[in-house]
Amino acid sequence: MTDTKIEPNPYSPYANADPEYRHLILSLFGLKPSAGVLCLTACDRMAVAPEEPLQEATDKLGDGGLPDGLCPSCVAMARSGEAPVPPRPQECRECGDLGSQGEWCALCRQELHEAWWPTRNEAEGEVVSR
Ligand SMILES: [Zn+2]
Ligand SMILES: [Zn+2]
Repeated sequence: MTDTKIEPNPYSPYANADPEYRHLILSLFGLKPSAGVLCLTACDRMAVAPEEPLQEATDKLGDGGLPDGLCPSCVAMARSGEAPVPPRPQECRECGDLGSQGEWCALCRQELHEAWWPTRNEAEGEVVSR
C-alpha cells in the first residue's frame, strides 16, 4: 500500500465525470488515449486523460489495495466488467443527437474540449502549479 493519493483527472468544462476522483479511461481497441484528450471513463462519463499512465492504478485493482482518490464506480466497473445502466438519453445542445452524456453528446464534448484545451491556461490566467 502506498499513501499517495491519486490526483483527479485534469479539469475540463466539458468533462462530466466526478471531478473529485481519478477515473479509469477506457482504452478503445487497445489504444492508449493521449494526455489531454477527453475520453470515456469506465463509469460511463467523460474525463481528460492525464499525463502519467493509468496502468499503475489499474494494476492495483487486482491485489485489493486501492489507491485513494480512484473513482468507486470506475473500480466497480473494472472489477465486474459490467457496463453501468446508461442514463436517460438527452438531446445534445450542439448537434441535437440523443446521447447519454447530458447536455452535450460524447462526440461534441470531445470537439468542444479539443477547441478549449489549448486555451485553458489563458482562460485560467495562471499556469498550473502545485
Ligand atoms: Zn469514474
Ligand atoms: Zn452532439
